[in-house]
Amino acid sequence: MRGTVVKLDRGFPLVKCESGNLVRCEHATALVKGERIRAVIGDDVDISLPDGHDKGIIESIHPRRTSFVRRDPAERTSSQVLAANFDLVIIAEPLVNLNRQRLERELVLAHETGSEVAVVLTKSDLASPEEAAAIAREASDLAGRTVKVLVVSTDDAASIERVRALVPEGNVAILIGKSGVGKSSLVNLLAGSKVQSTASVRERDGKGRHTTVDRVMVELPDGGCVVDMPGVRGLGLWDADSGLGLAFADVDELATKCRFRDCSHNDEPDCAVLAAVASGELAAARLESYRTLSAEIEAVRAKREDARRMRGEKASDRKKARKNSR
Ligand code: GDP
Ligand code: ZN
Repeated sequence: MRGTVVKLDRGFPLVKCESGNLVRCEHATALVKGERIRAVIGDDVDISLPDGHDKGIIESIHPRRTSFVRRDPAERTSSQVLAANFDLVIIAEPLVNLNRQRLERELVLAHETGSEVAVVLTKSDLASPEEAAAIAREASDLAGRTVKVLVVSTDDAASIERVRALVPEGNVAILIGKSGVGKSSLVNLLAGSKVQSTASVRERDGKGRHTTVDRVMVELPDGGCVVDMPGVRGLGLWDADSGLGLAFADVDELATKCRFRDCSHNDEPDCAVLAAVASGELAAARLESYRTLSAEIEAVRAKREDARRMRGEKASDRKKARKNSR
């Protein structure tokens, strides 16, 4: 039987079968042996229903069309897939106190998935319309031409409708953004019912608190599906070269005019990127972000290769030991 993982809680994927039935599942031993393959929300799976068993068994996971991948926060040399097979990543950032660096990082991760990307600036009621428009323009400049930037507030129904329009029937969107930014409030309004418990605001600091770490795929009444991704705290980059290129298309475009193809835009002669910073065409902060993120990707790659080499050496040590003991 084929189905889609629509919820993950306490390690057990809930699979919605083509028949519409919901089946709580576990993984077939053969699937998870050795490798750390686990179904994630959005995965397209084949399941079996053994007699006398209270759960279904996930026998196989179909290749992922898109996936959201970050560096494993616990183990720096491996990656973690958090969601699969979505069409759009919606990045939620608070309009007031918009964190530009965080947004740039989120844009790299979102573009790396290979899906479409949009940004929603939340809680716009906390700013004046003029302020909101100015911040939206700035976010739009950062995000580039291919990314829609929407301004939303829970007390503005039209703003919620504009988000709904991003997720037409048959499409799946994942919603990322730090805790307290207003993701569950938004999902509740999009769904038209209370599907997620919303955190109560702590007095004074205005930060929301988490009440849930479940990841659930929510069907919108006249549209597609949205997955709220709470608990995505660490946003470490993994293999994100193409995401970096797309999120920093402005820098990439300039870089095609540098004299050297592998220009690092540090101190090379005839560097078009440095020239653009000097002329004011490119913000210095933008180049700084680009350097920071690309250095992070490089460092992760180096670590990963070290770890691979070490595993290889250990394996050959074991082989040698076996030979010697014969
Ligand atoms: P999540 O952690 O991203 O899911 O955020 P929540 O949806 O739980 O929201 C965190 C807090 O922000 C809650 O107390 C919400 O009531 C509040 N909040 C959400 N959206 C808005 C908004 O548009 N305007 C204002 N003023 N507060 C909001
Ligand atoms: Zn250059």
